[in-house]
Amino acid sequence: PRRSKLNVRPMASSSEANDNVAHKPTPAMQQYFEAKQQYSDAIVFFRMGDFYEMFYEDALTAARVLEIALTSRSKDRSGTPIPMCGVPHHAADGYITKLVRHGFRVAICEQVEDAKKTKKLVRRKVVRVVSPGTLTDASYLEAKEPAFLVAISLHAGRRDTVMGIALVDLSTGIFATAEYPTITGDQEIADELSILRPREMVVSAETDLSRDLPAVSAFQIPTTSLEPWWFTEEHAQTLLCDQMGVSSLDGFGLEGHPAAVTAGGALIRYLQDTQRVDLQHLQRITFRSRADHLILDPTTFKHLEILETATGERTGSLLAEIDRTITPMGGRLLRSWLQRPCNSRETINGRLDAVEEAAYKTTERSKLQDTLKTVHDLERLIGRVGLGTAGPRDLVALRESVASIPRVRSILNDFRAPFINSLLAQLDDVSDVRNVIEKSLVDDPPALARDGGYIKTGVDRVLDDLRTVRRTAKEDIAALEQDERKRTGISSLKIRYNRVFGYYIEVSRSNLKAVPEEYQRKQTIASGERFITPRLKEYEQQVLGSDDRILEMEQAIFEALRVQVSAATTRIQVSAQALGTLDVLGALAEDAARLNYTKPQISEDDELSIVEGRHPVVEQHCADQFVPNDVLLNSTSQQLVILTGPNMGGKSTYLRQTALIVLLAHIGSFVPAQRAKIPLIDRIFARVGASDNIARGQSTFMVEMQETAKILHTATSNSLVLLDEIGRGTATFDGLSIAWAVAEHLATNAHERPKTLFATHYHELTDLADSIPGVINYHVVAREWHEDIIFLRKVEPGRSDRSYGIQVARLAGLPLATVKRAKDILRGLETDELSRGGQPSFNASPGTHNLQLGLFRSPPSEHARIIERFRQTDIDKLTPLEALTLLAELKKEVSEIE
Ligand code: ADP
Repeated sequence: PRRSKLNVRPMASSSEANDNVAHKPTPAMQQYFEAKQQYSDAIVFFRMGDFYEMFYEDALTAARVLEIALTSRSKDRSGTPIPMCGVPHHAADGYITKLVRHGFRVAICEQVEDAKKTKKLVRRKVVRVVSPGTLTDASYLEAKEPAFLVAISLHAGRRDTVMGIALVDLSTGIFATAEYPTITGDQEIADELSILRPREMVVSAETDLSRDLPAVSAFQIPTTSLEPWWFTEEHAQTLLCDQMGVSSLDGFGLEGHPAAVTAGGALIRYLQDTQRVDLQHLQRITFRSRADHLILDPTTFKHLEILETATGERTGSLLAEIDRTITPMGGRLLRSWLQRPCNSRETINGRLDAVEEAAYKTTERSKLQDTLKTVHDLERLIGRVGLGTAGPRDLVALRESVASIPRVRSILNDFRAPFINSLLAQLDDVSDVRNVIEKSLVDDPPALARDGGYIKTGVDRVLDDLRTVRRTAKEDIAALEQDERKRTGISSLKIRYNRVFGYYIEVSRSNLKAVPEEYQRKQTIASGERFITPRLKEYEQQVLGSDDRILEMEQAIFEALRVQVSAATTRIQVSAQALGTLDVLGALAEDAARLNYTKPQISEDDELSIVEGRHPVVEQHCADQFVPNDVLLNSTSQQLVILTGPNMGGKSTYLRQTALIVLLAHIGSFVPAQRAKIPLIDRIFARVGASDNIARGQSTFMVEMQETAKILHTATSNSLVLLDEIGRGTATFDGLSIAWAVAEHLATNAHERPKTLFATHYHELTDLADSIPGVINYHVVAREWHEDIIFLRKVEPGRSDRSYGIQVARLAGLPLATVKRAKDILRGLETDELSRGGQPSFNASPGTHNLQLGLFRSPPSEHARIIERFRQTDIDKLTPLEALTLLAELKKEVSEIE
């Protein structure tokens, strides 16, 4: 189920629990019911020995989803067998991930006491709840993508006018908030969510999604409802302050933003409730304002194919083309830069200068990239430390990663770009952390702490002693084996170990006669028998006793180490982000060098000028040589370009490449052009190609008009507007009229003069350039060659003479007869006018010669009479006077028609 409305409030006991309570279940089942009652919305993984067991409904669901065997537990007292299924604890992660992928939540109920140390029932407790937004298992996460969990708060204390949103990536500790006015909040949040694609959303139980947040609810994000009081400002404020370890949130820019605070607070509360750890890695929160980045609405985002193509593939997207990052941090950062391009000139220029320097310092760049290859996902590693899920291998990976920091610093030592230097200043060697891990952990430890054998010798005296005892005992056992062989004369006698019996002596069937009397028989197997002796038991106790204690000690030392590393969380996070940023800058420099990009100039005036611009993706994949093109836009003389030309001529490519160049410049990247001057842009609106929303029950045309309406309402003089084939989805005259009015609106609005590229197949629109200053005609050049059309893909000033649609249709393989018929019809249309309402009646049969008469209703007889008189007039035979008289007569006749 995509949308599972869940409720994590403790609920009154379910009827199922009640039934069984009435029948006095076993003490273990009693524990189970308590856990289930508290986490009624989750599948409870109930730890029993080496397994997690599930019961009742949970068992039925899990057995089906996980495709594991359903069994039953001894009957309860009413005589009904209890459905049950289980998974081995060491393989639980995979099963949990699978359930969560299917939209379920899983509550993990652990034994929190050592079974050996208590005679009574071991205590059990839910230690973690895993849901789509809180699952941090590596197999569930994409290395270069974040996994967001969001909270939306509607009512903020006294000021009832804002909506708050908080989003967290639990795996990395990224935690951000924002606020929107209630009146537009639903749509704006929906826009943001559609780009960020969170995995789970939490709201107050009082929020009715379809009523309060209809646009958001359309996304069908798995949603969890929480206690409404978690969303009160006071509760949230206190909680956030505690979490961040501060007395006021002002330092995070949250002052005066109650809705953002409540969303953030509710989110932390939810995480505390489900993760049950201190969340050390969530210590920084940011407040994002709408004004701090270049806005790309979801439609634009989709049409520009930034992260994926129209068909949802990564290959062919802008990101896939330019992503040369090496670390997961870099990959995620580049992605987020594309999602929220910058709109501060200073920041952009800072990045551009850094990219420039890295672009020409090739040796240093490749050294940097080689070093970054040794950096693991530092952000997520420290996240696992904070979540308490880090194992020995994670800490070793963390050590290896931070070991790169001094190297990175020395490689970039001579760089001058201030941005690179500020990043170097943020790098912390964390040598204390590195040393303590190095000192404590072996280089190649097991993944899980419970497997033991990872703490180095010399870390703890007691541990070393225990290991000596164990080793001696094991040596003793080996010696015992030799002795017994000698003593009994059984050369095949073996001492072995298994988890059920411990150590035993195995003697094969044929040698059983020679077994000494004091051997105690333990088990008969097919090939012989197994025995123990008091001496062997004694050694065994030394081995096993020390084994347990060794493991305990190793785990304790590891836990202390984890806490120690966790204390350095912020330093490591800051360094990880700095490394990620250096990675992105290196990648952009690599792009610049390899793809022959140029440094854009971020212009102070409002001129957008691109010389020989290229489409970053199409240029890499098109069959022929890519034809570069120029763009010039401003808000005065070149404000709106009407671009005409044949289908397939390259119009959408030209529009898209302009947007992508502007976008790349705003993330601080070089651009595919010979020269580019780009002003700061507040929003890009791109409506290029049809976008259907059939799923939401809206026609293509309706969606197109909604999107156009949004552009007309919101575009400013600093916006870039790209419209392709507006009005295509309706009848010709409607479409033409709409396109005309839209273009006119954009070009004549005195207040907002967005820079606009308007591609259209309505040639009539080129007339706008004659009457409106600032409207300019451009066309993509195509040439006819015999019957064929050749696309030159060059954009040039002026209007195109024709649309060449029929030639393109021919190229596309339309049957020749159909192409010929279309030509005939076109000829007719061109000689005639369109009928009223744009609805020509094509009732002439193919091959009719007198087409223009057959195409539409017949011309009125007066017209025909006048035409006939023209036909019959032989101008060569007219005297000037006769000509004048004829003209006067015709004029009189014409003036008499209506
Ligand atoms: P239109 O929007 O005019 O129908 P497109 O922009 O979709 O045309 O271009 C059609 C195809 O032409 C594209 O898929 C691309 O492969 C190719 N193309 C477009 N522009 C160029 C160019 N400048 N140089 C080379 N090939 C191009």
